Amino acid sequence: MLPPAALTGFAGEAAPSKWPRPRAAPRRELLDLGVEMLPRVGPSLARKLARLGLRTVRDVLEHRPHRYEEPVPERPIGDVPAEEEVAIAGVVRTVNVRRPRRRLALVEARVSDGTGEVKATWFNQAWLAEKLQPGTRVRLRGSLGRYGFTVKSYDLDGGGATADFAPVYPATEDLTPKRIRELVAAALDLAGEQWDPLPAALRVDEQLPSRSDALRALHQPAGLEEAETARKRLAFDELLVFQLGLARRRAGREAETASALGEPGEVVARYRALLPFTLTDGQERAIAEIDADLAKPKPMERLLQGDVGSGKTVVALYALLRAAEAGFRGALMAPTETLAEQHFLTVEPLCRQLGIPVGLLTSSVPARERAGALEARILVGTHALIQEDVDLSDLAVAVVDEQHRFGVEQRKAISGGRSKRPRRQSRHGLQTASQATPQPHVLHMTATPIPRTLALTVYGDLAVSEIAKLPANRKPIVTAWVTEERSSEAYKRLRKHLDDRRQAYVVCPLIDESETSLARAAEREAERLRNGELRGYRVGLLHGRLRPAERRDLMAQFKARELDVLVATTVIEVGVDVPNATIMIVQEADRFGLAQLHQLRGRVGRGAEQSYCLLVSRLGEELTDSARERLEAMVRTTDGFELAEVDLDIRGEGQLLGTRQAGLSDLRFTRLRADRDLIERARGTAEELVGEAGPLDDEVERFFADREPAA
Ligand code: ADP
Ligand code: MG
Repeated sequence: MLPPAALTGFAGEAAPSKWPRPRAAPRRELLDLGVEMLPRVGPSLARKLARLGLRTVRDVLEHRPHRYEEPVPERPIGDVPAEEEVAIAGVVRTVNVRRPRRRLALVEARVSDGTGEVKATWFNQAWLAEKLQPGTRVRLRGSLGRYGFTVKSYDLDGGGATADFAPVYPATEDLTPKRIRELVAAALDLAGEQWDPLPAALRVDEQLPSRSDALRALHQPAGLEEAETARKRLAFDELLVFQLGLARRRAGREAETASALGEPGEVVARYRALLPFTLTDGQERAIAEIDADLAKPKPMERLLQGDVGSGKTVVALYALLRAAEAGFRGALMAPTETLAEQHFLTVEPLCRQLGIPVGLLTSSVPARERAGALEARILVGTHALIQEDVDLSDLAVAVVDEQHRFGVEQRKAISGGRSKRPRRQSRHGLQTASQATPQPHVLHMTATPIPRTLALTVYGDLAVSEIAKLPANRKPIVTAWVTEERSSEAYKRLRKHLDDRRQAYVVCPLIDESETSLARAAEREAERLRNGELRGYRVGLLHGRLRPAERRDLMAQFKARELDVLVATTVIEVGVDVPNATIMIVQEADRFGLAQLHQLRGRVGRGAEQSYCLLVSRLGEELTDSARERLEAMVRTTDGFELAEVDLDIRGEGQLLGTRQAGLSDLRFTRLRADRDLIERARGTAEELVGEAGPLDDEVERFFADREPAA
């Protein structure tokens, strides 16, 4: 590989200020068309696809398979070995549907190829019979067993489902991998030879295939090596775009100034004395690093990472108090209203004891009170409100909590079509900030820990503080996974904790995206539990449709032990902090994303007591591969870093039902650990290209715009 410097001025010439559009450019617009443009996609399918995050042709093309089928030999039907996966091809002779017992439908087709005939069997897909009319040509992949040739995947009159290395996409209940394959094939055809955002010379230097070739090979590889080469090209693209965004931000920040806050003062000293525990080494180190940053007249740009429950909030509040005691203001910015309220509930009582007024800024706070809140020294609110309403000139410290950027509320706002307001003060600083006003010191908090050296590589100049260890009194949470028919045992276990004066959470199934129907389902579930498994206990109900005051009262009651159990939707996943709660049941846990399960589990194990998390899933047969992988990972480890890696490997469905986390996990094709070299190269290339305007600009805009939280 050439050193990045060799890339300046492609082929030895000064780089043109605009790259010429490649000759085969015109198809780019096609990518932005909605999925409805693909054959046989109507409104209902489009909705299902939207739930997978697939809204445009481009989204479909960039939907990454999470694995590929093994290659299998094709055998003549007369010569199929027993119990071994093979492919056969032939013509349907007869077809019929049998229902040997309730809830079991067998489609049976006799298929022949001249060397012999075999009975092929499909389970519970009665609707297929119609398509398997005599004379239909089929290619089947499966194995010979008790029911004849049990079909695992099939193609009728062409198609790629039975091919060697057929891609396997994270499936959902109402969208089979087969259907997704068909859509991808249609999208590939439609997109054809596409626009390539990379300058040709760079592609040659980096020995990367064209983007069109890469996309085709991603979905229809001839072998695993080809698929991997394709993945790398796509990873390079996203890394380059990501790094370009960061580099541009750095360039824009060079001239910025911030208020230097001097030495820590009397308020934070009292704050430390007020805490009922001593800070961990990790917390102390983070605080020292923050203090050093705040003493400088340059804006701090620091990432604070630590697993769920590691005590980041304590550190964040320290930074906010430093602003307040120096006569400035601090703001804690949360991605959702619920999270902002939770933070407010944590922060406000402490600050009250310190005599520092705190204001809550969310859209459910009436305008009148909001004006009052704006007077406070420390503001807690959603990103959007703080960015819009707060005068930056006396804002000295901003803490940006990103652990849950794409929550239910955002997804709703996005799908509800509320447009994103253009914002001067973008989180990524892509727009040029005014350089006359001092900029706030910024602390980003994330609960997706990655190794520090890797974070430095990826985030560039962002400084990283890490709280590597949980407070010493913690015991790892014990996690168990049971299927529905054994849920009564889980509740028995939970009642035992309640009888020992402990408290518990029950998390309701995730049914769909609407906060209102979630709330209704949660109400029904709480009622059912009050009359069933939890009869005789004091059961509270927490969901996103409660008014803030109601929610606050409820949390106060739970904290005061006036309630034994909190039945809740995922609104409890962040911020809720009750150390006496030692057990949690997550119903239909298979529906949740991994990041979300990890966050949920973090609500217990917050004190010295041994805590438990019981994951109840639907029955084995009903689970998708990735659901199973997620649940197994949760049982295996409580390490957020390890889970983040697993999540990256099986992602897709995680995006659908779970949380889309910020930053690194926005990268779809990159494997953080394996791709270090690629990350370095993308970073070097970005440094070279940062001054140039060109087609990559649009990609940078898109990458960061898509990820801006819609408030
Ligand atoms: P995070 O935001 O990283 O998930 P929090 O800041 O919410 O974690 O802290 C989790 C819990 O641990 C809270 O109950 C907090 O009061 C407590 N905690 C924080 N720091 C310490 C410490 N040094 N020792 C004991 N408990 C702590
Ligand atoms: Mg927290």
